Amino acid sequence: MENKIAKLTEIIRDSNNIVFFGGAGCSCESGIPDFRSSNGLWNEKLKIKFTPEQLVSHTFFMKYPEEFFKFYKDKLIYPEAKPNAAHITLAKLEKMGKLKAIVTQNIDGLHQAAGSKIVYELHGSVLRNYCMKCGTFYDEKFILEAKEIPTCPKCGGTVKPDVVLYEEGLDDNIIRGAVDAISKADTLIIGGTSLVVYPAAGLINYFKGKNLILINKSTTFADNKADLVINDSIGKVFNEVMKLI
Ligand code: ZN
Repeated sequence: MENKIAKLTEIIRDSNNIVFFGGAGCSCESGIPDFRSSNGLWNEKLKIKFTPEQLVSHTFFMKYPEEFFKFYKDKLIYPEAKPNAAHITLAKLEKMGKLKAIVTQNIDGLHQAAGSKIVYELHGSVLRNYCMKCGTFYDEKFILEAKEIPTCPKCGGTVKPDVVLYEEGLDDNIIRGAVDAISKADTLIIGGTSLVVYPAAGLINYFKGKNLILINKSTTFADNKADLVINDSIGKVFNEVMKLI
């Protein structure tokens, strides 16, 4: 483990165009569990149990907005969460001019809270919400304080989180930005993701640089392609790196 941290630190020292690609594991140590690990929601009226994936699908949002927001507020918003060592170290690397972009599957805004500027949020952000009718934006507090279905005070439209739900397409501009950053990187660090969620696996194919690094608690399909694999928690790894950098 120590050797691997030393190797990672050495790679970071030698790199000038690092891109970080992160998933749910990055936010775990900030107290945000992967919503997919939840038990879903039992619906008394319909006598069926919805899976977490069904609950955050576009169809479910349109059909059962009340239940959607119940699950959403309970399992997807964590207003008390603070950035952890991974977020803080990555922000520091950006300030040092080493890290050029973060591509994240997370929707919690913790990279920006830590000070990172270039963040491609593939799945959107719980911090932004917009009226489906007039387009007015609202913050996270507005959603938390709303009873049942958040409604726009201006026009009465439903306020939808700016989060990519299942069945919805990703933002083209964000994908382009992420692909561009990854294709120019000399080092790609992938952390806290098992790489099974779309479009993670496809995006890493754009990497043509020198060092591919994987930091994840469990193994991933890309482990054999990587120059360095660390099977440990991302917060712990970056905490050690921060001391050495
Ligand atoms: Zn409105």
